[in-house]
Amino acid sequence: MAASVPTDRIDVFWDEGMLNHDSGIGVFDSGMDPGFLDVLDKHPENSDRVKNMVSILKRGPISPYVSWRPGRHALLSELLSFHSPEYINELVEADKEGGKMLCAGTFLNPGSWDASLLAAGTTLSAMKHVLDGLGKIAYALVRPPGHHAQPTQADGYCFLNNAGLAVQLALNSGCVKVAVIDIDVHYGNGTAEGFYRSDKVLTTSLHMNHGTWGPSHPQNGSIDELGEGEGYGYNLNIPLPNGTGDRGYVYALTELIVPAIRKFEPQMIVLVIGQDSSAFDPNGRQCLTMEGYREIGRIVRSLVDRHCGGRLLIVQEGGYHITYSAYCLHAALEGVLNLPIPLLSDPIAYYPEDEGLAVEGIESIKRFQKDIIPFLKGD
Ligand SMILES: [Zn+2]
Repeated sequence: MAASVPTDRIDVFWDEGMLNHDSGIGVFDSGMDPGFLDVLDKHPENSDRVKNMVSILKRGPISPYVSWRPGRHALLSELLSFHSPEYINELVEADKEGGKMLCAGTFLNPGSWDASLLAAGTTLSAMKHVLDGLGKIAYALVRPPGHHAQPTQADGYCFLNNAGLAVQLALNSGCVKVAVIDIDVHYGNGTAEGFYRSDKVLTTSLHMNHGTWGPSHPQNGSIDELGEGEGYGYNLNIPLPNGTGDRGYVYALTELIVPAIRKFEPQMIVLVIGQDSSAFDPNGRQCLTMEGYREIGRIVRSLVDRHCGGRLLIVQEGGYHITYSAYCLHAALEGVLNLPIPLLSDPIAYYPEDEGLAVEGIESIKRFQKDIIPFLKGD
């Protein structure tokens, strides 16, 4: 059979220096040794998970569709487009002093700051590539993740908000409106916070209904956190019941995200992707399989084709099952490429789905949004 000619490609931005961030070992993400376990876990946000994401894109069946691009360090001055100077100074000082636990589970160790600067700079390079018209679909394969990092503080394994910095770059480069679709299993509170008072950025997040988890994460991710001032209505939180699954996610996207994006009409979409929404993730309970990720990829692709001239930036966040995160990434990118048949079959999916609760929850969010959000009223 003749090899099919790729109709599209994804430019993957990556630098192996990001592997040098080492969050240590302990009981799950605590960094603590209780003294009675012979075998301690690596911190869930470890380099192995990303090594498998790199290798599956290099050697998996999607590899002919992938072009590899170099990453780079962000300049400190670039970070100030999203973060406060005081916070950046805190990180620089913590690095100079040999490291610091910034909040629960979030360890800036030797090597972490360099990796963080690489993650931010690499995401900026990926965005610039798309803005400059050098490629339509770019994927920033980065760690440490970023979507919990707020303008003034670290949170949830995140130091710098990679996606937020890229959105700001797009705005500064002449994009009038940018939409963010965050499907990591946790609330993208940092990105939401960064644009909470802006009507130029529509931040949307589908997440587990985990609520606040302390001072580093004061936001609830609830439906009534809608933005403030000019930004009122431009932060759409979609907390989904545990076990929502493939069909529930697709329902949430088609009923809530697609209509909002259609009305917002962004020039650029950023897909903030975490594979911790999978059925096998130690950090999530949302039960997506590869097919769910594939379908999400297809839906996002149709949105960017309709509104953004096909331009899409994808930014890597969580995803902690060492094997399945890589497979789900592969499936999501297959969907984004709009490939007609799956390239890779699912090695472990077997979760029985029941979308009843999810549909009920999504319908009630829809009624709420149509009642009170000005730009969504009237449908
Ligand atoms: Zn997450």
